[in-house]
Amino acid sequence: VKRSGGNGLRFFERTMNAASAERLALEADLRHAVERSELFLEYQPVVAAAGADIRGVEALVRWRHPHLGRLSPDRFIPLADESGLIGEVGAWVLGEAARQGRLWADQGLDLRVSVNVSAVQFSQPRLLETVSRALHDSGLAPAQLVLEITESSLMNDVESAVGMLRALKNMGVRVAVDDFGTGYSSLSYLKRLPIDIIKIDKSFVRDLGGDSRDVAIVRAIIALAGSLGMSTVAEGVESAAQADVLRAAGCDFFQGFHFSRPCAAEALVL
Ligand code: C2E
Ligand code: CA
Ligand code: CA
Ligand code: CA
Repeated sequence: VKRSGGNGLRFFERTMNAASAERLALEADLRHAVERSELFLEYQPVVAAAGADIRGVEALVRWRHPHLGRLSPDRFIPLADESGLIGEVGAWVLGEAARQGRLWADQGLDLRVSVNVSAVQFSQPRLLETVSRALHDSGLAPAQLVLEITESSLMNDVESAVGMLRALKNMGVRVAVDDFGTGYSSLSYLKRLPIDIIKIDKSFVRDLGGDSRDVAIVRAIIALAGSLGMSTVAEGVESAAQADVLRAAGCDFFQGFHFSRPCAAEALVL
C-alpha cells in the first residue's frame, strides 16, 4: 500500500508538473496571440421570441493556436484572468466587436453586439477607458453595445459592482447579467444593480419540457426580470420544444444551437 501510494504520489507530481508546464507554455503563447492576430471572434445570433428575427449577436472569442489548433475560450480566458493578460485580450475583443458592430450599422442593420467581460476585467477601473476607446474608435452607438457580466463577478464585491455598473450606464452602454441563476446571488441585490438584461443560464434551459421544476425556475426568473424592468434572454436553446416553453413563460429573446451556432461575421445570414 505504501509503495503504491508512493508511486501514486510520484505520478501525481509528474502530471501536475506536466500540467503546470503546459499552462506556462500556453500563457507564454497567449502573450503574443493578440499581436500575431491569432484571436478571432465568432458571433451567435440573439433572436426575438416572437418572430425569431435576429436582434443582436454575442461575440465569442477563439484562439487559432499555431500548434494546438483552435482553442475555445474556456481554455484560455481563465489563464488570461490569472496572468494579467485579460486587459489586452479584453481590449482586443471589445475593439473588434465594436468595429464589426459599426460595419453592420453602416449596412443599415439594427443589431446589438454583446461582449463578455471576465471577472478580473470587471474588477479593473481601466475597463471604462477600454470601453470608451472601443466606442470612440469604431463610432458604434453606445446603446448598441451590451456588456455581459457573470452573476458571480457581480456578487464578488457588490459595492464596487454598483459603482462600475453606474459608470458604464453613464456611458450609455447596456448591461446583461450572464449565467443568471448559477451564482447564488441574493435577489435583494438585484434591485440595486442597474441591469438591463438577464441571461437565463443554459443549465435551466437544458431540461425544459422534462423537468417541471426547471419550468418553475425559468418562470420565476422571467417574472422577476419583468417586475424589475429587465428583459430576458434564454441561453442554450437547442430545440423548438424548449423555445415553446420559454415563449409561453414570457421570455423575450432566445440564443442557442436551435437558431444558430456561433459563426464568422461573414457567414451570418442577417
Ligand atoms: P457564455 O458567455 O455563457 O457563452 C455561451 C456559450 O454557450 C458559448 O460557448 C456558446 O458557443 C455556447 N452555446 C451557444 N448556444 C448553445 C446551445 O444551444 N447549447 C450549448 N450547449 N451551448 C451553446 P463558448 O463560445 O465556448 O464560450 C464559453 C465561455 O467563454 C462563454 O460562456 C464566456 O463565459 C467565455 N467567453 C467567450 N468569449 C469571451 C470573451 O470574449 N471574453 C471573455 N471574458 N469571456 C469569453
Ligand atoms: Ca455570455
Ligand atoms: Ca452565459
Ligand atoms: Ca457560461
